[in-house]
Amino acid sequence: PQAANGLTIENISAGYGQALAIRDISLTVAPGQVVALLGRNGAGKSTTLKAVMGMLHLRSGSVSMDGVTVSNRPVHARARTGIGYVPEDRRIFTGLTVSENLEAGRRPADGTDAWTPKKLFDLFPNLAPARDRHAAQLSGGEQQMLALARTLMGNPRMLLLDEPSEGLAPVIVDALAQVVKTLKQEGLGILLCEQNTVFTAKVADRAAIIESGSLQYEGSMSELALDDAVRKRYLAV
Ligand code: ATP
Repeated sequence: PQAANGLTIENISAGYGQALAIRDISLTVAPGQVVALLGRNGAGKSTTLKAVMGMLHLRSGSVSMDGVTVSNRPVHARARTGIGYVPEDRRIFTGLTVSENLEAGRRPADGTDAWTPKKLFDLFPNLAPARDRHAAQLSGGEQQMLALARTLMGNPRMLLLDEPSEGLAPVIVDALAQVVKTLKQEGLGILLCEQNTVFTAKVADRAAIIESGSLQYEGSMSELALDDAVRKRYLAV
């Protein structure tokens, strides 16, 4: 059944060419909940996010956001239903300034609590002094923060984050975890692909483990923390 609120992924399959990269994946993410999609390299984590966002056609299954089926809609229409996506390669506009990148992400909010550059500079204090610098000049951590901030300018209610902590120094990963906690408290739902178990343990409520394109485990983060067998079998720990 489709949840009235949040993201519902039902039995989706998708792939590249003839081959299926994910099979029969079902997941739900409620408002204010962080679900971590874990698994080894090539397991199908990024493919799942792409299929949810519409970057990849579904072979079967459906995706709905706040009770509205979006799987028959193009990417921009999914964004309009409130799904925001930060891809692994970040895709910020390196030739534009920080402020211009934020403007490029602007999409009117349905509600009143719209994100503005001012609010985002409060959330990401490192970006404020860099607002007139070209994005190309930012550090990797600042670029990741900018990619997230630009997506927030679209006022999503659900975020798809593909390995946000990848390549970042531990102190930056901590700052990112604080941001994710703040967003969660504000009621955003977040589906997070991650390899970094330290970051995941800090922010996630639930974990789903994917292997060879199929979901193998789902449980709370505390259940997973106690389950050595599952972690040894599916995660590189
Ligand atoms: P990673 O962390 O390495 O990105 P992942 O769990 O996100 O791993 P996916 O990127 O979803 O894994 O890849 C799932 C499978 O799909 C892999 O077998 C991969 O080789 C294949 N795949 C991914 N992208 C493409 C593509 N553009 N064309 C063909 N096959 C692809």
